[in-house]
Amino acid sequence: MMNVENRHITIAGAARSGVAAAILLREKGAIPFVTDSGTISDISRQRLIDLNIEFEEGAHSSRSLKGEFLILSPGIPTESSIAQHYLNEGKKIYSEIELASWFANPPLIAVTGSNGKTTVANWMAHIWKTAGKNYLLTGNIGNAFSEMILSSDDHATILLEVSSFQLDHIDQFRPDITILLNITEDHLDRYQNDFGKYAAAKLQITRNQNCENLFIYWQDDPILAKHAEELALKPDSPRLLAFSATREVTEGAFIRNGTLILKLQNQEEELMQIGEIGLTGKHNLQNGMAAALAARASEIRNEFIRESLRSFEGVSHRLEFVREYEGIRYVNDSKATNINSVWYALDSFQMPLALILGGRDKGNDYTLLEKQIRSKVHTVIAIGEARASIREQLGNIVPNFLEADSMKGAVKLARKSCKRGETILLSPACSSFDMFDNYEHRGNEFKQAVLNL
Ligand code: ADP
Repeated sequence: MMNVENRHITIAGAARSGVAAAILLREKGAIPFVTDSGTISDISRQRLIDLNIEFEEGAHSSRSLKGEFLILSPGIPTESSIAQHYLNEGKKIYSEIELASWFANPPLIAVTGSNGKTTVANWMAHIWKTAGKNYLLTGNIGNAFSEMILSSDDHATILLEVSSFQLDHIDQFRPDITILLNITEDHLDRYQNDFGKYAAAKLQITRNQNCENLFIYWQDDPILAKHAEELALKPDSPRLLAFSATREVTEGAFIRNGTLILKLQNQEEELMQIGEIGLTGKHNLQNGMAAALAARASEIRNEFIRESLRSFEGVSHRLEFVREYEGIRYVNDSKATNINSVWYALDSFQMPLALILGGRDKGNDYTLLEKQIRSKVHTVIAIGEARASIREQLGNIVPNFLEADSMKGAVKLARKSCKRGETILLSPACSSFDMFDNYEHRGNEFKQAVLNL
C-alpha cells in the first residue's frame, strides 16, 4: 500500500471519479487539490466544499502544477497541457483506478473490452448475489472505485469495470482476475486515430499479472489470442482461460452440441444448454461465458452459475425490450455507441427490422453493417449530426431511408414503416451528445416516445 500521508497531490478533473479520488486521498491523510479547466458541476462543487477539499475551476493555476504526482480523470486526454506538464517534469501520472487499487483488498476482478463491460460486470454481480457472496460492483459503471472502497466490506470481491482511459495510466494495478472481452474500433479520437494504440491500452490490463493471477479472454479475437500466446511465453505468466462459441479451447469455456462446457485443469463440466441462457445474441453468449469462467475460477458452485445465467435480465439500454404494441416490438439499445455493438444487435434478430441510427458520429464506417442490413433491415431512420454520412453510406443499400429531427419523430416514422411481427430497434452506433445529455437520456426519450404511442 502506498503511503500518501501529508503528500500534496493534484487531481485533474472534478467529475465523479476526480472527486472520488480526492475523497479517498483525503481519507488516507494526503492533501488533495482538485483542478478543472472547465466549469465544475454544482453537485461536485458542493461535495468538495462540504468535505473541505480545495479546488479551482476555469483554469489550471501554478498551484495545480506543483503536486507530487497527478491523478488524471479518464475524461482528460494525456495530451492535455496539465498532463504534459507533469510528464515533462518527470512526475508520475496515475489513473483513478490505480490510486484506488493501492487501498483495495483482494480479490479484485477487472473487466474491460470495447463492448460488453457493463453487461459482464453486472452479470457477475448477479452470480455473486445468487451465490450469497459479498461483492462490490464499481468502476466505469456509475460509482467510482476510489469512493466505493471506503465503505466496502473488506472481504467483498471487487467487480470492477475498467475503460481504456483508466488503463492508460496504471502502474502497479494487478487484478487477481482480468477479463478482456474484445477489442474493436472505438474512441480512436483519443488515440491519434491509431487502433494499435487503443488496443495496447486495453492490453495493459494484464501488465502486472503473474502466475498467481488469471487472464480470461475471447479466443476468437486475433489480438487477444496473440496476446495470450505472448503471455504464455513469460515464465510467470498468468493462468489463461479462453472462451469461444465457435471452437473448443484447451482451458476455459466453449460450446459442444448446444451445451456450454467449462474445462478447467483438464476436467470438462457440462454447465447448461445455451438455449437456457437468459439473454439472446451471440455477444451475450460470449459475455455469459466470460462471467461464468470468472465465477467458476472464484470457486462459485456451478449450480449458482447456471441459475444466474438463466435468470439474468440484462442491463437497461442494452437490447432492452420496451414493449409490444400493435404486434410490433420495440427494443432500446441506446448504449450501442459503435458499429460493432450495432452489428451484434442486428445479428440477434431474425425478423424484419426498422433501425434508428445516428447521433454524434465518431467517423463510423456504416457499410460494415451492409450484410446485416440487406438481410433484415427494410428501413433506416437517421437522426442527429450523423444523418448526412449515414445517408451517403446507406442511402442506396436500404430499401427505405428516412430522416428525423427528434426521437419522437423517429419513432413515429418507424411505426409507420413496420407491420405486425416486425421490430423497431434503436441502436445508434453514435454517441448521444448532439441531441441528449447521455445515452441514458437518449434511451429514456425513446422509451417515453414508445410508451406514449
Ligand atoms: P460497455 O460497458 O463495454 O459499453 P455494454 O455492456 O454497456 O458494454 O454494452 C454496450 C453495447 O454493446 C450494447 O449495445 C450491447 O448490446 C453491446 N454488446 C454487449 N456485449 C457485447 C459484446 N461482447 N460484443 C459486442 N457488442 C456487445
